[in-house]
Amino acid sequence: MSNTNAVNTTIYKYHPDQDGFYGPFGGAYIPEMLHANVAELQEVYLSIIQEPGFKQEFDELLRDYVGRPSPLYLAKKLSAKYNANIYLKREDLNHTGAHKINNTIGQILLAKRLKKKRIIAETGAGQHGVATATVCALMGLECFVYMGAVDIERQAPNVARMKMLGATVIPAVSGSKTLKDATNEAIRDWINNAENTHYIIGSAIGPHPYPDMVTRFQSVISEEIKWQLQQKTGKDHPDYLVACVGGGSNAAGAFYHYLHDDRVQLILAEAAGLGIDSGESAATSILGTEGIIHGCMTLLMQTDDGQIVEPYSLSAGLDYPGIGPMHAHLITSKRAKVHAATDDEAMQAVIELSKEEGIIPALETAHALAILDRLDLSKEDNVVVCLSGRGDKDLNTFITYLEERNGK
Ligand SMILES: *Cc1c(COP(=O)(O)O)cnc(C)c1O
Repeated sequence: MSNTNAVNTTIYKYHPDQDGFYGPFGGAYIPEMLHANVAELQEVYLSIIQEPGFKQEFDELLRDYVGRPSPLYLAKKLSAKYNANIYLKREDLNHTGAHKINNTIGQILLAKRLKKKRIIAETGAGQHGVATATVCALMGLECFVYMGAVDIERQAPNVARMKMLGATVIPAVSGSKTLKDATNEAIRDWINNAENTHYIIGSAIGPHPYPDMVTRFQSVISEEIKWQLQQKTGKDHPDYLVACVGGGSNAAGAFYHYLHDDRVQLILAEAAGLGIDSGESAATSILGTEGIIHGCMTLLMQTDDGQIVEPYSLSAGLDYPGIGPMHAHLITSKRAKVHAATDDEAMQAVIELSKEEGIIPALETAHALAILDRLDLSKEDNVVVCLSGRGDKDLNTFITYLEERNGK
């Protein structure tokens, strides 16, 4: 974690101001009933997470429980193929299989210091639910995970995992019965149990201070990339830094220590689904317009009269209708560039990494690999791709996809 002062916006223009605004995006647009809870978090989060005792406990758990530092691996065959040095930041090797555990460890330590007894979370594919149930088991706190009824059907193995870990999984049966609805129900629970409950949000989204708090917990990714690259290349920065983006937490963590370093090109990979113009897409920043979702002003997919458009992606971790406010700012101010990969392109990238490097990536992660051929790379370029998670959870999706393709 960095000790950078979050309010010094003249120098650190990509950090939020005191009210959680990244340019026009961010803020805290919340119902009155949540005001006390959110205001408490806003007041104390920085002092708590910068306290030496907190940092020590966080660092120890990341090392001994999560397995950090995660390796930075030079993928030789990919490098030859794309004509550049392609390094993979191996978040897939973390306990529970993705970067999400970095954030849930941080937030459970915060919840303990706030003396909360009860944890709630929302989950789409179940990865954040599993990461939350894991840290609740570790710390002995009660855990309730809201999950769309449709997702409960689709993601049975993760539901089983959460139950094994002692969590209660509550089906969200309103609306489309997916992530957005699960988030709405989690917020309703928080309103009703504000006193004793901490809400662990799973991405760099939600009302201030969540986007900044989650980003700081995930920033361990770029903290490690810096010294690992220094050791391997003699330079502490890459030329390109690439990450997939759903809500934006793995990208935010991978970018954090390079946000104000102009030598680094920041590249985001969105899910185009069946194609950006197909009507079945989750390319939020490309298709999105300014609006408020789940407590913050950001870019989101909506109709002219402000109804949220259902996103689509084969990968459950990327089909969120909005994008974190930090990314909305990075994109609109042209600090970061976005490319979108379709389901098919992502599946090709899954197959390629599996066969070429012996690493089966998560379907979300594969979107970051799928856009490498759009970058104007040359032999000396160092590229870091955030390998956000492993593909074990997606095996059924992979198998069904390959069977359908072979059947055609
Ligand atoms: C959840 C998830 C994502 C998307 O979430 P971000 O907050 O955008 O990082 C990406 N990759 C994996 C493996 C995930 O589990």
